[in-house]
Amino acid sequence: MSFFGPRDAETSLPCPACGAPLHIERSCHEVRMRCPACGTQFPLKDFIGNADDAMERFLENVYCDRI
Ligand SMILES: [Zn+2]
Repeated sequence: MSFFGPRDAETSLPCPACGAPLHIERSCHEVRMRCPACGTQFPLKDFIGNADDAMERFLENVYCDRI
């Protein structure tokens, strides 16, 4: 079991509301996208089709931890 995966990572996807780079973050039970500039949160599923390298690396860690 790993406790060292990041809980938050910057992605290259722009915020739909303001255009700032979105962050991907996880809480206890879910992963979501959050914009640090305007504070808006978005469901991951809205972006999963456009996942960039940062998101894919982050999700690999998340799925390992879920087991
Ligand atoms: Zn924003």
